Amino acid sequence: MPNSPLLECLYVHVPFCARKCEYCAFYSEASSGELIERYVRALERELELVAPRLKPRTVFFGGGTPSLLNRRQWEGLFRTLDRLQLLGAEEWTVECNPATVSTDKATLFRDHGVNRISMGVQSLDEALLDRLGRVHSREMVFRSYDRLRSSGFDNLNLDLMFAIPGQSLEAWSATLREAVAMESEHLSCYEVIYEEDTPLFHQLQAGQFDVDEALACAMYEALQEAAAEAGFTQYEVANFARDKRHQEGTPPPHHTPTRSLHHSLPAFACRHNVNYWRGGSFFGLGPSATSYVEGVRWKNCANTERYCQSLESGGSTLDFREQLPPVSRAGETAAFGLRMVAGWGFEEFKAVTGADLREHWSEAMDALCQCGWGERTEERFRLTRTGLRFADAAAEMFLR
Ligand code: SF4
Repeated sequence: MPNSPLLECLYVHVPFCARKCEYCAFYSEASSGELIERYVRALERELELVAPRLKPRTVFFGGGTPSLLNRRQWEGLFRTLDRLQLLGAEEWTVECNPATVSTDKATLFRDHGVNRISMGVQSLDEALLDRLGRVHSREMVFRSYDRLRSSGFDNLNLDLMFAIPGQSLEAWSATLREAVAMESEHLSCYEVIYEEDTPLFHQLQAGQFDVDEALACAMYEALQEAAAEAGFTQYEVANFARDKRHQEGTPPPHHTPTRSLHHSLPAFACRHNVNYWRGGSFFGLGPSATSYVEGVRWKNCANTERYCQSLESGGSTLDFREQLPPVSRAGETAAFGLRMVAGWGFEEFKAVTGADLREHWSEAMDALCQCGWGERTEERFRLTRTGLRFADAAAEMFLR
């Protein structure tokens, strides 16, 4: 595709964790040093293959636990990215586990252009951290957070989780209170999902606990209230961002244009994720990572050994490749975009997908308005505050 535009979003999956958490269905494994070395070399090879089609404005290293790679491995990756002219993204996020953040690594990240860290906290309650099988303590969260701040990071996200089995509304409120007091620029707060083949799913199947839907709703409302009170703007079902830095009162200069591109986005919104929700193209590298380019989606195999072998021998890393019919693609884009508080402007949706929401999805929008989950104006459709809590069910109505 010699004339296709250069892609601006790059995701890299690092498939290693110190230990598997009880609820996690992401592809990752607790692994040996040797496989990690092989993975880094294979990833460098995959980067070489996509580099001619890439000029990243946003980069996201997720996982897994990217911070598990050691200093030498990171240095090697940075050298490769430099050689391939892939450094210099406007927003570059690395996910970190509080157990694996050192000042040394944080400084290395900063020196090479990483400017956003997303820290997997999940809870600040020791018993619940244990319940989830997390490898870190609450103390490690505070320590790592301070390390990141003193290394110069001024765009930090905290990942939290609610509706954890055994979690009371009071325990969730206490975690929320402590988390907002940390004054991060961004919060991502997800309700526990029971993914098949996770220990938590099997415990639920075995009747070891019940799901309390009313309590989960109350927790979501408590989240929306606490975040708003602390000065966050909700811009997606689970994502909240500040408009300016809590202490300095200044927005990050590179985030300012986002506001004019998309309806009412706070300055510290994660632009990389906004691209997903708005149906944008992206490359995903690493085992199990998905790419989406010009309507074609493909996924790498979810097997690190096979991924490495394929890249070592010049073979294919592909698990599957699909090209959806235009209306299915537009339906999927509609469904993703409705996760955002702004919903879809009808003209914006047409510009992105070529389809008209008012033509193909009128019934779905009417049904959602009637039950109080949706609201529609002349220009746009979006989910209400209540509707956001049921975004997955609402999204189903747009899929074709
Ligand atoms: S650290 Fe993250 S990716 Fe790793 S097992 Fe836990 S939840 Fe999954």
